[in-house]
Amino acid sequence: MNYPVNEVFETIQGEGMFTGVPAIFVRLQGCPVGCAWCDTQHTWEKLAQNQVSPEQVIQVDGSIGRWSEMTAKELIGHFTRMGFSARHVVITGGEPCMYDLQDLTTALEQAGYRCQIETSGTFEVNCSVDTWVTVSPKINMKAGMIVRQDALQRANEIKHPVGLMRHVEELDALVADIDTTDKVMCLQPISQKARATELAMQVCIDRNWRLSIQTHKYLNID
Ligand code: SF4
Repeated sequence: MNYPVNEVFETIQGEGMFTGVPAIFVRLQGCPVGCAWCDTQHTWEKLAQNQVSPEQVIQVDGSIGRWSEMTAKELIGHFTRMGFSARHVVITGGEPCMYDLQDLTTALEQAGYRCQIETSGTFEVNCSVDTWVTVSPKINMKAGMIVRQDALQRANEIKHPVGLMRHVEELDALVADIDTTDKVMCLQPISQKARATELAMQVCIDRNWRLSIQTHKYLNID
């Protein structure tokens, strides 16, 4: 199966459960969710005129909307050619769950990688059983897409940005019918704001949840 790849790069996972872990990020093109504050808007449209060769999306600044069709085998070949040493692969977007990720995650695992998907929860999650699924639910965004209960059920980790108590309440309503005892529940302060951090810390302490800090923003890396 071919996947529309916007960029591939190696860095440190900056947030959530795998904070600090060296990781290869595979960013897929395409997302219909429409978050107003999205910092990867260049991934929203998969325009035919922006299709390029695989070489043009590997280790190249991906802040534009170009993309290339690649198979799992081609991607793994690029990892080797680039000399990437990380064994953790983060499949992100865009919205990666627009695509069936079973092939990709299975092939990566067979090649010795651990997979993580970062998704908005607005699509069914299709991936290997062992893939770590992080759902960062996008509630009431412009496109009016519903955060799916089956995506939340599949999640290993639910990571929610918070600035106000109402964001915590939104999350509570969303997971009201889900057993979260086996999930890592993370709150992530919005934009490193002091009040958001204070709120997130307090709720995490009260509930024994995990605080997710966007460490890459403090380190000034991707
Ligand atoms: Fe951007 Fe992610 Fe929202 Fe899509 S789901 S609009 S990629 S933040």
